[in-house]
Amino acid sequence: MTRPRILVLGSDGQVGFQIVRTLAPLGDVTGSRLDGAAGLKIDVTDHAGLEGVLMALRPSVIVNAVAYTAVDRAEEEPALATAINATSVGVLGELAARIGAAVVHYSTDYVYSGITDRPWREDDPAEPLNAYGRSKLAGDEALLASGADALILRTSWVYDRRGRNFLLTMRRLLVERDEVRVVADQIGAPTWARLIAQGTALILAQTASDGFRLGARRGVYNLTCGGSTSWHGFARAIRDFTGSRCKVIPVTTAEYPLPAPRPVDSRLDNAKVEAAFGVRLPDWHDALRLCLEDGG
Ligand code: NDP
Repeated sequence: MTRPRILVLGSDGQVGFQIVRTLAPLGDVTGSRLDGAAGLKIDVTDHAGLEGVLMALRPSVIVNAVAYTAVDRAEEEPALATAINATSVGVLGELAARIGAAVVHYSTDYVYSGITDRPWREDDPAEPLNAYGRSKLAGDEALLASGADALILRTSWVYDRRGRNFLLTMRRLLVERDEVRVVADQIGAPTWARLIAQGTALILAQTASDGFRLGARRGVYNLTCGGSTSWHGFARAIRDFTGSRCKVIPVTTAEYPLPAPRPVDSRLDNAKVEAAFGVRLPDWHDALRLCLEDGG
């Protein structure tokens, strides 16, 4: 029997790297990266190039882990953020619909405004506060409108043992400094990239016998670790796990101004993905321990 082909766009990113490794039992996985250093070279803003690869490879599943994720820089270059996070995602959806491939795409807590008295549900109104969030929301909408059999997984505060993320930055600062000041009035759920990949694999495995058709289960799902904390709480947990003596001092968002405004409350309600696919990621604190115990 021929194995299904799975194309992973952005295989050098935090999520893409884990996805390539986690989906291997489901099919023949081809990773692609912007620099082409390993495997295929795909720039998603080169729509003709993207079309050429998809028509030649004809994958059953495309996992799009590509994104413009520089949240503050996006305020300066919204057109580039939109080209990568929105326009290309719509084109990808149209191409996927043409070849009958399912698409898994990732979105963000930053599509929400942050003013809420409960965790955000997928059908709550999305009102992004910054250019990155607007570009990601436009991508979600373009993919849903493309007619592709698509799954959009909204996650938050992604970290891993590689890449650019809060965990690695904080681990360095906790060694270099006697004290660090960290924002304590924004809350959300830190989510390990490996668990996002595992959640994705568990979802896709349920559709494998049906040619990866999502059918009535297509759409938007939140997928974050459980519980919530502030960036300050996340930093303290990293300090406690790593045994650092550095002081972690809480500050307000106003005391630590950044170019892009962030939601105050980024908690996402994960009930829908659990009801539809039986997938529930562990509590953020347990996940952080698992990640740090993973070596390196
Ligand atoms: P990363 O920034 O780690 O990875 C994104 C990848 O996309 C990088 O390898 C980057 O390559 C690549 N890329 C950028 N532009 C292009 C392009 N034009 N063509 C091809 N590849 C390109 O992202 P994450 O793994 O952290 O994010 C995965 C998903 O999760 C994204 O959809 C993101 O929006 C979402 N998300 C992320 C959060 C986070 O905290 N990081 C929070 C919530 C959601 P290069 O590095 O060479 O530029």
